[in-house]
Amino acid sequence: MSSDLQQISTSIKSKALELGFDFVGFSKSEKLYSEEGKLRQWLDAGYQGSMTYLENHFEKRLDPSLLMPETRSVISLMYNYYPEKELSRSSFKLAKYAYGKDYHNVIKKRLKGLTSMLESLWDHVSYRVFVDSAPVMERQWAAQSGLGWIGKNTLLINKEKGSFFFLAEILIDKELAYDGPIKDHCGSCTACLDACPTDAFEGPNVLNASKCISYQTIELKDAVIDSSFKGKFDDWMFGCDICQDVCPWNRFSTPHKESKFEPSNELKEMNDQDWKKLSEKKFTELFQGSAVQRTKYKGLRRNIDFLEEN
Ligand code: SF4
Ligand code: SF4
Repeated sequence: MSSDLQQISTSIKSKALELGFDFVGFSKSEKLYSEEGKLRQWLDAGYQGSMTYLENHFEKRLDPSLLMPETRSVISLMYNYYPEKELSRSSFKLAKYAYGKDYHNVIKKRLKGLTSMLESLWDHVSYRVFVDSAPVMERQWAAQSGLGWIGKNTLLINKEKGSFFFLAEILIDKELAYDGPIKDHCGSCTACLDACPTDAFEGPNVLNASKCISYQTIELKDAVIDSSFKGKFDDWMFGCDICQDVCPWNRFSTPHKESKFEPSNELKEMNDQDWKKLSEKKFTELFQGSAVQRTKYKGLRRNIDFLEEN
C-alpha cells in the first residue's frame, strides 16, 4: 500500500474523530453477495410487516455501485447517542435515541465538515452521503469496516463502547486503506433473545420486525395495536431499548457529548399524568425537531392509550 494512501486514510479518520464521530472505518465497495440470500429469506417470510419500502431497491441494497456507479470505497461512521441519565420521572418510556433532536439533521451537519475535507484532498472527487436515508446496508458495511460485529440482536456492537450509536456512510470514488471485519464476540450469550418481551427474534440475528415494539410503536400506521400485544410492551411508548440494555457489551457505553441529543427540561419533567393527558399542542412543543415526530401526535397518543388500557 502506498504511503499516500495510508496518509490520506489516516487524515480522513482524524478529521471524522475531530468532528465528533466516535469510530470510522473503510471498506472496498463490492456487492454484498453473502447478504443476498438472507435478505431474500427475510423479506419472503414477511418480517418487514407493513414496511414495504424495504422490498424496493433489492439490488441497490446489496450493491453500492447501483447507488453511485463510480463508488470504490465505503466510509462507515459511528456517532454515540448514549445518554448520561435515562428519563426517569415517568413509567412511560422513550427509546434513548429519541431523547433529543432528530439525529438525521445533527449527523448530516457533521458529515458536511467531513465532505468539505474530502473535497480539499483531491481535485475531483465524487461521493454520496447517507444517514439512514437510502437502501444502504449500514450495519453490514460497519461490520465490514471493522467497527464491530452484528450481534444476535441484529445490531452493530462495538467492542469498546457497545451499540448505542447512529451509523452513517459515505460512498466515494477513491481507493482508501481498508479495514477488515472483526470476530463475533456474542459467544454463548443469549441475553437479548431471552429478554425480548414480544418474542420478536425468530432466532439469533433474525428479527421479525413486525413483532418488535419499535415497529409497533413507530412504523405501524394502523389506528389500533393488535390485542395479541396486550401486556407485552413493558411501558414503551416510542421504540424499545431492551435488547440493547441487556447486552453485556453496553456496560462499556459512555455518555455522548452532543448537546443536541440532550432531552429538554420539559421532557425530563413529564410524569405519568402528563403523558396520559398529552394534547396535540403539548406534543408539538415537546417534540419540535425530534425523531418522535415520525409517529405524529396520533401515533404517540395511540401508543399511550394502548399502554393505559393494557
Ligand atoms: S427492540 Fe425490544 S421488542 Fe424489539 S427486538 Fe429488541 S427487545 Fe424485542
Ligand atoms: S446480548 Fe449477548 S447475544 Fe445479544 S447481542 Fe449482546 S452479546 Fe450478543
